[in-house]
Amino acid sequence: MNITCDEPLYPSGATKLDIVLYPDPVLKTKGEEITSFDKELKELSQNMLLTMYHAPGIGLAGPQIGISKRIFVLDVDYDRDCIDEENNHYQLSNVNPLVFINPVLRDLEGETTYQEGCLSIPDIFDDVKRFETLVVDYQDIYGNDQSMSADGLLSICIQHENDHLDGILFIEKLSKLKFEFYRKKMIKEKKRLKRNKEDE
Ligand SMILES: [Zn+2]
Repeated sequence: MNITCDEPLYPSGATKLDIVLYPDPVLKTKGEEITSFDKELKELSQNMLLTMYHAPGIGLAGPQIGISKRIFVLDVDYDRDCIDEENNHYQLSNVNPLVFINPVLRDLEGETTYQEGCLSIPDIFDDVKRFETLVVDYQDIYGNDQSMSADGLLSICIQHENDHLDGILFIEKLSKLKFEFYRKKMIKEKKRLKRNKEDE
């Protein structure tokens, strides 16, 4: 797949990473605090953004690419149009890539419900209750302290991604019955994907 963007795209020259599927233990592991803001971290965030745009998704957290660290990326604003179906060529516009490192959520208020999905739990969507508004304190890729208030889809996405850093998945926020149903479905699906891969 080929992705281009008219605006200077943040992750140009980045590498697409493999997305870890549920149930994988790394998705249930609490991510570690990030302490070095080096070249490697910048590359990681760029690779994560590219992987997210490829998927496509609106958010991606460290554990989802097998890295148990407190980082997530998101973009809830971009458009992705197929400009050449034969060559699998996509064009991005209105990109607004964001990187959150060591995020801490506060001032969580109100209530909202949104049908969520997750790149680590493909083809499963369900309504999740979240806070409506929040403030997130975080560090940018240079290690500078930042703060952002969020509502709407941005707020929902920040809560979903932040949960990943604590090893929490959106299906765990549903009823026990639904959780068990989706969990079993994913185990079956993963086995099927593994068999397909072995047959190749
Ligand atoms: Zn997710």
